[in-house]
Amino acid sequence: MEGILSPAESAALKELFEKKLNGVMRMYLDTCARCGICVESCHVYASMPEVKYTAVGRAEVVRKIFRRYFRMQGRFAPWLGEVLEFDEATLNAVYDAAFSCTGCRRCMVHCPFGIDTQQVMAIAKALLIGADREPKVLSMLADMSIAKGEGIEETRADYAQALKNLEGEVKAIWPVPEGTSAIPYEAKEADVLYVALAGSHSIVSAAAIMNAAGEKWTLSSFEAVNFATFVGDSGKAKRVAQRIIDEATRLGVKEVAVVECGTAFRYLRHMIGPQKFRVVAFVELIDRYIREDRIRLDKSRLPESVTYHDPCQIARNSGIMEEPRRILRAISDRFVELRPNREENWCCGGGGGLVAMGELDFRMKSSRVKADQLKASGAQIVTTACENCHSQLSDLNEHYGLGMRVEFLSHLVAKALVLPGERFRR
Ligand code: SF4
Ligand code: SF4
Repeated sequence: MEGILSPAESAALKELFEKKLNGVMRMYLDTCARCGICVESCHVYASMPEVKYTAVGRAEVVRKIFRRYFRMQGRFAPWLGEVLEFDEATLNAVYDAAFSCTGCRRCMVHCPFGIDTQQVMAIAKALLIGADREPKVLSMLADMSIAKGEGIEETRADYAQALKNLEGEVKAIWPVPEGTSAIPYEAKEADVLYVALAGSHSIVSAAAIMNAAGEKWTLSSFEAVNFATFVGDSGKAKRVAQRIIDEATRLGVKEVAVVECGTAFRYLRHMIGPQKFRVVAFVELIDRYIREDRIRLDKSRLPESVTYHDPCQIARNSGIMEEPRRILRAISDRFVELRPNREENWCCGGGGGLVAMGELDFRMKSSRVKADQLKASGAQIVTTACENCHSQLSDLNEHYGLGMRVEFLSHLVAKALVLPGERFRR
């Protein structure tokens, strides 16, 4: 029959599925009561009300395969329905389910059984990799990242020179004593290894803030970004993270501070097992500097009203919600909350690899509720602590004509830094 996979292809996909079937996953797949409580939780469904865009609708695609291959009824009486064979149509449905989900886990907050749709979609993504149907751009970006890391010895000198060229921008924000590097690189006896992204925007403000705090820090040779997590390739994701683990271990740092990137942070904080160092989000580090009075900030530099978008991987999925608010209250008298916020905040709509994949039309349509929420805040600036969210919010701002300014939280903090002896407003 057309579209049916060969027995060998089906067997290989079944084996991949089985590898993901631990006790928790079996609970997720067996337990859904189809109560529908999660339906309104998903920003995609709230923006584009189609059943396939509900959390339960997405998971149901995977459940139907589960029933077909791992439950008696599906194996011996598939005609009773509620099952899916491995074929072209099924793989298309699996793709639609997996890559219309940003992995924000807002649905999980509301599900009475705590069913984690992101984890269920991890099976969908594994099947797509097995069937060679994953988004190739994400695999390519993951491979490029691994290759870049493997070729680090050839590029180390050029990278060091590029950092030297950048030092002037850091010193313009926070001067350092003569003979001191404004961007320490491969520094021995550093306490903090800062892991940035490609691009000076992820280095300059952070460097100025750490220098202002008198931090003993050094910059990582490796970028934080981990595209393999988006595509669902756990082997490659581990390889990308391992380079940072090895570097932190080699340098003997106490902490790895991850740039404003939610996915990279969540992976390093929660998925690499116990290490000799702690993993902190950069927003946590800034908050600590303020609480320990290591940096002083001038509120008068930010006259506009400002709101904060909680990145899903930093707030809901890592519990970092009060730190950015303490920071914002230290730099602004005009901080306003988005409604809802914290663990209830709407996803920006760009997670799960969607920004890297392009997908502009889908991202804009599926995030209408986010645009409405931003507009309702009345704020002039929306700030966030995640690169991916920043890109998506910038696209939403333009697409929906919101007329806001989108800023990284670290950039606002760097602009508010008070030099010794300078007058400022607390
Ligand atoms: S994880 Fe987020 S995007 Fe995915 S189904 Fe749940 S609410 Fe929707
Ligand atoms: S809230 Fe939970 S149990 Fe209810 S339909 Fe959604 S996933 Fe199933």
